[in-house]
Amino acid sequence: MTAAPLVDGFGRRHTDLRISVTDRCNLRCSYCMPLDVVFKPREELLTAEEIARVAGVFAGLGIRTIRLTGGEPLIRRDLPALVRRLVAIPGIDEVALTTNGLLLADQAEPLREAGLGRLNVSLDSLRDDGFEQIARRPGLDRVLAGLAAAKQAGFTGIRINAVSIKELTESEIVPLARFCRREGFHLRFIEFMPLDADQAWDRSQVLSGADVRAILEREIGPLVADAPADVGQPAVDYRWVDGGGVGFINPVTSPFCDRCDRLRLTADGQVRNCLFSTVEWDARRLLREGGDDAAIVALIRDCVAAKRPAHGIDTPAFERPARAMYQIGG
Ligand code: SAM
Ligand code: SF4
Repeated sequence: MTAAPLVDGFGRRHTDLRISVTDRCNLRCSYCMPLDVVFKPREELLTAEEIARVAGVFAGLGIRTIRLTGGEPLIRRDLPALVRRLVAIPGIDEVALTTNGLLLADQAEPLREAGLGRLNVSLDSLRDDGFEQIARRPGLDRVLAGLAAAKQAGFTGIRINAVSIKELTESEIVPLARFCRREGFHLRFIEFMPLDADQAWDRSQVLSGADVRAILEREIGPLVADAPADVGQPAVDYRWVDGGGVGFINPVTSPFCDRCDRLRLTADGQVRNCLFSTVEWDARRLLREGGDDAAIVALIRDCVAAKRPAHGIDTPAFERPARAMYQIGG
């Protein structure tokens, strides 16, 4: 008998799982992590076996795509082996990865061989000093080498993610767009969300997708809206008539909660129904106390049933989650 799909109280069916594989990172982006970060003890993070077990239970409930994230997922030495296990789970159609690209030059090929489908690389600046100002560590040359290696390894449809923050990233928009058009990467701008560890987010710092689009149209040329590749996708995609595309993920100015199909598993084994959820469901405890798959199914269903209609960033009742982006998994 096939299990009932993961449908919440608002009719949203969940088919996508974001798995954070670590909270550790080799950068310290100001919009994500504190400079004086304290990471979780290693024994609190799920092992590859534990991740694969939970992912298998999710797949049995209708999850079809998995995206690995973190922290920086390439920091985990067992990542290619984990990808291989996840790709082999019946029902999983695609395993994708979001990375800062610093370690990609060495790992692109093993990851491709392991069956990794899609690759998102986060990059906010093409200037060494701009990169270091945002990421609070150097590394631009390594990211560019990683991107070249990814192409060489055969990845296609590589996406570049850039966060949009007034003043901090504004001057990077046009150079990034020109670079991505030239290199054949699909660029996506993401509005700055209240998930920075320093809790410095303020609505006035959010550079909206509409503002970024206006800058691109003024400096490069008119953009034409594309039909969405899949209905659940948060991005609104556009293309230039003479080639190249750009997408906008606008969680602050244009929330896409009504079509959200995502669930999350944190590196320390907590199941979440939203980036902004203030509640988590503890799968690690079940895993480590001998819980069977039926108990994990019940936990996942409880989590889905409790999903709120929307994150409500723009409402007075909005409450920031206690954990920051690097601890949840973006
Ligand atoms: N370390 C990897 C990376 O940077 O791609 C994966 C994890 S990172 C948390 C995932 C994505 O979240 C990145 O594209 C990053 O730019 C984005 N991100 C982090 N903090 C953010 C925030 N406060 N608002 C919007 N996007 C954010
Ligand atoms: Fe690390 Fe990614 Fe967060 Fe930057 S956004 S600090 S690269 S986890």
